[in-house]
Amino acid sequence: MNELEYKLYIDDVIRRVETARLKVSEHHIVKIVAVSKYSTSGDIQKLYNIGQRAFAENKVQDLKAKTKELEDLPIEWHFIGNLQKNKINNLLTINPSLFQALDSLDLATELQKKLLAKEMTLDCLLHINAAKEESKHGVMPEDAINIYNTIQKECPNIKLKGIMSIGAHSQDKEVVKESFLTAHKIYEQLEGATICSMGMSGDFELAIECGSNMVRLGSIIFPK
Ligand SMILES: *Cc1c(COP(=O)(O)O)cnc(C)c1O
Repeated sequence: MNELEYKLYIDDVIRRVETARLKVSEHHIVKIVAVSKYSTSGDIQKLYNIGQRAFAENKVQDLKAKTKELEDLPIEWHFIGNLQKNKINNLLTINPSLFQALDSLDLATELQKKLLAKEMTLDCLLHINAAKEESKHGVMPEDAINIYNTIQKECPNIKLKGIMSIGAHSQDKEVVKESFLTAHKIYEQLEGATICSMGMSGDFELAIECGSNMVRLGSIIFPK
């Protein structure tokens, strides 16, 4: 696609986000993170040229390659994938703006050690498996507040900013909605949390209506 086609696509997405957020409140601001895992650096550059600034990858090696190819652009990079312990140092070398998928106390402890050694801090979101799906990563909703508070207390180099959740994998809108409401309810109880990252291409309007203020959009922004 050329830049003009991208612009038409993203304008439509922005209109849909606007409509959904205004149903919540005119003061409810929603940030769009473009998930570029299906795309090339050339596509990212086109989207950057029409104003998109936040992009996300889900594999450390892809994040590394694309940050390098696009190093001249002041892009805000997010990492949204599962992080294996042996990739922590690689991720820290890239130093993303936000790591959205912190999903256990164990990983947090290991991450804290490496951050301390490098004298760095990292903004993170706690990944909640709100629908309790076995195939998914994330902490169980009933454990989330406790784990969040423990990380805040024991991992000073991890700066927790809120939560990330993936909507239930279901055709039933009520089931998906329930998973978003579960995650949002936890978010509201966390001290100092400002980011509630929920909603992907297939369910972002519903997520926003349930309180999301950050949507992670891939296929709808980078259509094939
Ligand atoms: C791939 C991915 C997305 C984007 O998915 P789409 O359905 O293409 O919008 C969002 N969040 C996470 C964690 C992902 O891995």
